Amino acid sequence: MNRDKRAEMFRRFKATNPEPRTELHYGSAFELLIAVILSAQATDVSVNKATERLFPVANTPDALWKLGVEGIIPYIRTIGLYNTKARNVVAACQMLCEQHDGEVPQQREALEALPGVGRKTANVVLNTAFGQMAMAVDTHIFRVSNRTGLAPGKTVLEVESRLMRMVPREYLVDAHHWLLLHGRYVCLARTPRCEECLIADLCDYKPKTTRVKPLKTTRRKASAGKSGAALARSDQEPAASGKGRPA
Ligand code: SF4
Repeated sequence: MNRDKRAEMFRRFKATNPEPRTELHYGSAFELLIAVILSAQATDVSVNKATERLFPVANTPDALWKLGVEGIIPYIRTIGLYNTKARNVVAACQMLCEQHDGEVPQQREALEALPGVGRKTANVVLNTAFGQMAMAVDTHIFRVSNRTGLAPGKTVLEVESRLMRMVPREYLVDAHHWLLLHGRYVCLARTPRCEECLIADLCDYKPKTTRVKPLKTTRRKASAGKSGAALARSDQEPAASGKGRPA
């Protein structure tokens, strides 16, 4: 994907969603850190349900450390790997209290030293809580980066490093959320929704999909001007544009 296409891609993301946000609920950098630790291999919805009950009881490093593993488990039992996560949360809280005065550090090395915090979690916290230009590459972002040709790579680190170079600087802080949301709701793993994709005409992915039945020529021409997405499709996939939207 060339420079102009990359710029246009993010211009459209911004125009459509000027202030993208994580779908995890949090009220402080610490709450975000805990929510992200809990979110490994779990949905944001399941984490939010757990933290909605946990945070009113304990939402500081000191309070969660005191609550302890057995005290935390009842709140997060519905989340996968809850035993390990509870142990990591308590150990991380102890470290925050003992080494960081109860504050969430803003340095990658210090974050990654916390139990349960890997590079991706550190990137989310640096980006979302502290507004730093960091790119947490999850499964959605990995897929979108490769399919679109924005930042292809065989490993997460390779994709992350390419994204940091390829995303126009002015969009770098928000790029993580735009790409994640795009992968979660449009560029789906099994059946990407190319027919309603905002960036279909910019994307390098060849076998674009559609769940919309091809229309007859006359009706296709009539509908091609109805939306930007339809216009984009009519350039590349005339047989796929037109009638209706997928469920
Ligand atoms: S056109 Fe299809 S493959 Fe490309 S980004 Fe959009 S949904 Fe994904």
